[in-house]
Amino acid sequence: MKSYSIKELLSSNLSLQEVTVKGWVKTFRSNRFIALNDGSTINNIQCVVNFENFDEALLKKVSTGAALEISGTLVESQGRGQSVEIQVNKLEVLGVSDPDTYPIQPKKHSLEFLREKAHLRVRTNTFAAVMRVRSVLSFAVHRYFQNNGFYNVHTPIITGSDAEGAGEMFRVSTLNQKKPPLNEAGEIDFKQDFFGKETNLTVSGQLEAETYAMALGKVYTFGPTFRAENSNTSRHLAEFWMIEPEVAFNDLDANMDLAEDFIKDVINYILENCAEDLKFLEQRLLDEEKSKPQAERSDMDLIEKLKFVSENNFKRVSYTEAIDILKSCTPNKKKKFKYIIDEWGADLQSEHERFLVEKHFKCPVILFDYPAKIKAFYMRLNDDGKTVRAMDILFPGIGEIVGGSQREERLDVLLDKIKELGIDEEELWWYLDLRKFGTAVHSGFGLGFERLVLFATGMGNIRDVIPFPRTPQNAEF
Ligand code: ATP
Ligand code: MG
Ligand code: MG
Ligand code: MG
Repeated sequence: MKSYSIKELLSSNLSLQEVTVKGWVKTFRSNRFIALNDGSTINNIQCVVNFENFDEALLKKVSTGAALEISGTLVESQGRGQSVEIQVNKLEVLGVSDPDTYPIQPKKHSLEFLREKAHLRVRTNTFAAVMRVRSVLSFAVHRYFQNNGFYNVHTPIITGSDAEGAGEMFRVSTLNQKKPPLNEAGEIDFKQDFFGKETNLTVSGQLEAETYAMALGKVYTFGPTFRAENSNTSRHLAEFWMIEPEVAFNDLDANMDLAEDFIKDVINYILENCAEDLKFLEQRLLDEEKSKPQAERSDMDLIEKLKFVSENNFKRVSYTEAIDILKSCTPNKKKKFKYIIDEWGADLQSEHERFLVEKHFKCPVILFDYPAKIKAFYMRLNDDGKTVRAMDILFPGIGEIVGGSQREERLDVLLDKIKELGIDEEELWWYLDLRKFGTAVHSGFGLGFERLVLFATGMGNIRDVIPFPRTPQNAEF
């Protein structure tokens, strides 16, 4: 007898055949109906037990969460909303699940409660749907780049430079903590450590990816990155996955085109391949919104929102234009901001970004040409001498989803900048080599994978779109 996944069974035409399935009990009603799920789909298969044919002690062991192997006849279902069901002939309980202590009950649990059960929460419909969408999105990322002539580069996780200079790095220590070697000044002597220098977990694979773009042309990294973000927001994790393409000979306009095309492609891919999970997640949001006042409800449903993004152009706006818009807000509107922006050169806060996207333009926005002072050292200086070829993509409900730029390809300009910022030139000798040997215009961006999953699933907190979130004071699992 062949084993089938529940997804296969529900979409098959195997009526009247004998089948075997394995999965976990979602619910067991009236000592007769087992809703079984094996993770392959959001839908359960109904298994109908004729209890007179089964030992009472055996049926007692069938409870929510238990693992079962069921064999029976697949028949057309009389029940609503399901095509087929199984008339059970044989039932084996592979693993019991004590109903008194099993934390995941059929009732609705709060997301906060489930965060404390990160090892079990994927057994709920919501998390199973989110994690399936996450997996398909991850495939879509590789699919897009591989189909478009990019090579995947595995940039290092352990790095020897703090190139971003943001001071948010996790130090890698291989020192004997009890007795670290000290130098004459009494400080830890990293020269005696495993790597012979201080090392950190990567905050971005960009600089290393640039080196590969300058030989392979079009490359991307998609790996974990680490930032000791000392704040608790619903958009930041200490460990997150970043997608970073880097392309030789691309200027900022080509970079914006790439980012927009990429996002639309992967969103389309999940619309085509995750229809059932997205429908479920959309319904979840609708149920949640019922309790909100009309004004706070979103004007588009999840799938409509995804289609809107995949079918419409993103609005491209220079930083200077954005500041003019924010400056010209009525005093009343301005009062709603925590920080009032009245000057060119100020860094936008997420409240301003979201205002531009959600209230002003009502579509994804690409902001470009930022003041050099608020951006990283490696960005291409414009001829005005005060702005750089940077871009951020801002999304409704999310804020910043992409940060990217054209990179400074001119050695002298880059060196001036490095000096101005007091960055250690020697640390970056290998990066500067790229500007000495065959330098060329190039650009790239970083897209936080979890922010993309947030948008795609309509979830509200980044902790709920990664299997085991890492945030301050939280690394339980
Ligand atoms: P933010 O302004 O939201 O803190 P950032 O400007 O510090 O982001 P970048 O250095 O531009 O971030 O990184 C590129 C992308 O990585 C961001 O656009 C975002 O999508 C994502 N990202 C950055 N920090 C985090 C984080 N702590 N957790 C999850 N995603 C992140
Ligand atoms: Mg940040
Ligand atoms: Mg930012
Ligand atoms: Mg950024």
